[in-house]
Amino acid sequence: AASDVYKRQELGRLGFALHQFQKTAIEADRRETDLRISNENLEKARSELEQKATELEQLNRKLKELSITDFLTGLANRRRFDEALDTEWTRAMRIGQPLTLIMIDVDHFKGYNDHYGHQAGDECLRKLAAVLMDNLSRTSDVVARYGGEEFSVISAYTDLVAAQQLAQRIRLAVESLALPHQNSSFGIVTISLGIAVAIPDRTHSTDDLIRAADQALYEAKSSGRNCIKTASLSAKVTA
Ligand code: GH3
Ligand code: MG
Ligand code: MG
Repeated sequence: AASDVYKRQELGRLGFALHQFQKTAIEADRRETDLRISNENLEKARSELEQKATELEQLNRKLKELSITDFLTGLANRRRFDEALDTEWTRAMRIGQPLTLIMIDVDHFKGYNDHYGHQAGDECLRKLAAVLMDNLSRTSDVVARYGGEEFSVISAYTDLVAAQQLAQRIRLAVESLALPHQNSSFGIVTISLGIAVAIPDRTHSTDDLIRAADQALYEAKSSGRNCIKTASLSAKVTA
């Protein structure tokens, strides 16, 4: 009888231990499920974050691109022009190579707007921009909308002869577009071009190059338009 009592006590203890063990096992299972769910959530959150970061990066790139692009024509804008001219000027100085700047202005464009309307004027500028883009020979060349109806081309490693060829190609390409222009003596839309070429040195700046190209453009205008003139950087007089 004593051993019966002992066996019953032993069974009771075993039963209790089993019950405890089951409770622990269920609890462990529950925790594992919780952990798996939170791991899954974490992974989901991480990949969402990753995707958002990529989107943000793309958006930033797009924004940067937009901030240096002219809205009307899709060309480089004035800001990009300034940056590119500085960069190319410095590079050309370092390697002792010529740098070309061409300033381009649409002839009698006020008269174009007056006759065809401002919107047609905008469309005309878009077409001219496309022609300029099509006629650049090198990927390093930059064509920008410098101002309202003024464009500019920066061409590295380009000497005077090559610059004149490039300018002539552009002028002829615009001419052969043959966009009707009632208020011009040419009867079509034409452009005037001013070229400045320099091997940059420390006595000159990009401003001097712009001034020279502007001067050449002014001469092209006063010589009857639809033509190309060249200016050289004047030597700086040191007093
Ligand atoms: P020139 O042959 O001497 O260059 O004569 P021009 O009439 O072209 O010169 P002017 O500087 O007198 O006129 C430039 C005109 O360009 C005036 C302005 O209305 C027009 N213009 C400037 N920006 C834009 C633009 O974004 N869209 C349109 N449609 N016209 C513009
Ligand atoms: Mg102008
Ligand atoms: Mg003009």
